[in-house]
Amino acid sequence: MAILVFIEHAEGVVKKSSLEAVSYAAAMGDEVIGLAVGSIDEGALKAAGNAGASKVLHVTDEKLEKGIIQAYAQVINQAMESTGAEILVLAKSSLGDPVAARVAAKQGAGFVSNVSDLPDTSNGFKVKRSIYTGKAFANVEIKTDKKILGLKKNAVELKTDGSEATVEKFDVLLSDDSFKVTITSQDKATGEILLPEAELVVSGGRGMKGPENWGMIEELAKTLGAATGCSKPVSDMGWRPHHEHVGQTGVKVSPQLYVAIGISGAIQHLAGVNSSKNIVVINKDPEAPFFAAADYGIVGDAFEVVPKLTEALKAA
Ligand code: FAD
Repeated sequence: MAILVFIEHAEGVVKKSSLEAVSYAAAMGDEVIGLAVGSIDEGALKAAGNAGASKVLHVTDEKLEKGIIQAYAQVINQAMESTGAEILVLAKSSLGDPVAARVAAKQGAGFVSNVSDLPDTSNGFKVKRSIYTGKAFANVEIKTDKKILGLKKNAVELKTDGSEATVEKFDVLLSDDSFKVTITSQDKATGEILLPEAELVVSGGRGMKGPENWGMIEELAKTLGAATGCSKPVSDMGWRPHHEHVGQTGVKVSPQLYVAIGISGAIQHLAGVNSSKNIVVINKDPEAPFFAAADYGIVGDAFEVVPKLTEALKAA
């Protein structure tokens, strides 16, 4: 039985979290069929074979370009029916979660989000999910025939075996029901690297004193090839745009490296960064709570440490 994986992309670049979802599905041992929607190069879709997909269904209906969730759910429903897939895997994301909930309702499928491990199928179908912003795990049994798994970022290693997937055009019938909402405009996030997908993040807090000092955060980020983030008060005060706000009420990041500069490490901020592989904290207060969550810490004035760090990285 094939496993269907919904593949998200940002302006034609397949998201790493979706490739992880493909690798995750491939590790379950069945054939993996990807499903992608919108303008994306055939070459980029073929590359999903590298992560373990044998085939990718590509839907190009221009009505889907604006990403209306109900319409995406309809596409996935039709792909599940056409492929006979009983398991759908997708990356946990702001698109994946609401789409998955709608597909689950239509398919009568059990849906578990934030899945962090391969399922245990020795006795039923049990999955482990991350809860309480990554502080604990829950083991959940899905009892329905059809199953939907929303995969936590960085939960699996990306498989790369050099294979290519075949790409097939997939035609869908979209009912008017899917277009009860019209998206009238979309604002593009600034910054070259999208924060939710970034492998490296440099983030600044209120310790940076004001927006005029963000040049040094941006310079360090540029040197590392990182996205920029910030704490909530920083975006609330308008020092930085809201889409950079990291934390419980903002973007949740899972980079390989998170550099926190002048951020105290309040629990609400940590909730957005605790899936990071490595955390570096720069803070002048040795008692700042962030140090307890850090892999590496520098106690010092950001205005002295950050320029020196950037220079050292440039020289390296
Ligand atoms: P501060 O707490 O003011 O810390 C500034 C830090 O900078 C201090 O540790 C200080 O020692 C250090 N510093 C000062 N000067 C320097 C210097 N020259 N060099 C180096 N270090 C220096 N916050 C979030 O970030 N994200 C969220 O999603 C979020 N959600 C929230 C939800 C709720 C319901 C609530 C109640 C709060 C939420 N908060 C969130 C706010 C959170 O509780 C903290 O108030 C906030 O994270 C603090 O931001 P900060 O660390 O930038 O500022």
